[in-house]
Amino acid sequence: MFDLTGKVALVTGGNGGIGLGMATGLAEAGATVVLAGRNAVKSGAAVTALRARDRLADSIECDVTRESEVAALFQEVMLRHLRLDILVNNAGTTVRKPPHELGLDEWNRVMDTNLTSAFLCCRAAHALMKEGGGGKIINIGSMLSIFGAPYAAVYGASKGGIVQFTKSIATAWAADNIQANAVLPGWIDTELTRGARAQVPGLNERVLARTPAGRWGAASDLAGIAVFLASSASDFITGTAIPVDGGYSIT
Ligand code: NDP
Repeated sequence: MFDLTGKVALVTGGNGGIGLGMATGLAEAGATVVLAGRNAVKSGAAVTALRARDRLADSIECDVTRESEVAALFQEVMLRHLRLDILVNNAGTTVRKPPHELGLDEWNRVMDTNLTSAFLCCRAAHALMKEGGGGKIINIGSMLSIFGAPYAAVYGASKGGIVQFTKSIATAWAADNIQANAVLPGWIDTELTRGARAQVPGLNERVLARTPAGRWGAASDLAGIAVFLASSASDFITGTAIPVDGGYSIT
């Protein structure tokens, strides 16, 4: 049921952090994973590490905020692998500022990276998946898809948007046998959070105190949900938003 042998998965921002954790899970389940990111060196190292473990992996350089690069990315996936079964929209960024201090350039950068990129990639994937008889889309939201935070107006807006966007495509594309779901990670130890963890006084302690699991998540904690939502085990699940947060959202 969880076997992904013969499936091709594209993971944006798959060259590090949560994206690589999910890509590794998909590769362990048998999928060929294509990692898309801007940093070719980082992607190359991730591919080498996966191939060293006899996993099928490949990388394509792409800035997912750019429409023409996204179009080229999907063309290249089809050229190299002839199909696309699974899309993980994971590329993301943040800016920690109160809303009244946000510049329009910062607003646009975060919205483009976190939300518009998902629209561009889903739109490109839809035709390919429909032609292939179906597909699985996994969009990465956040606890801040649900909660508010004083320093996260644009990040929260982008991640709240991910959940609503996911519901809409789930309804629009259900007849094409495409299931789309969002995953809402809690506090995960990655490059994205490492700066805040070091710089924001008390953050580490607050996360540990509020997370029932009593620890930060690891990128590998996202591997299981990726495999589940990419596999036939989740064929009757669409339009949901699933927290993977050690219980953070229930406290
Ligand atoms: P990282 O900063 O470790 O990884 C982000 C990835 O996105 C990098 O691989 C980066 O690769 C890629 N990326 C960024 N901008 C672009 C772009 N324009 N085009 C292509 N790739 C891009 O962050 P995380 O792993 O922590 O985050 C992954 C996702 O999970 C994000 O969407 C984030 O919002 C979300 N998330 C993270 C949480 C956490 O606690 N860490 C909690 C909740 C959600 P490159 O630089 O090569 O482009």
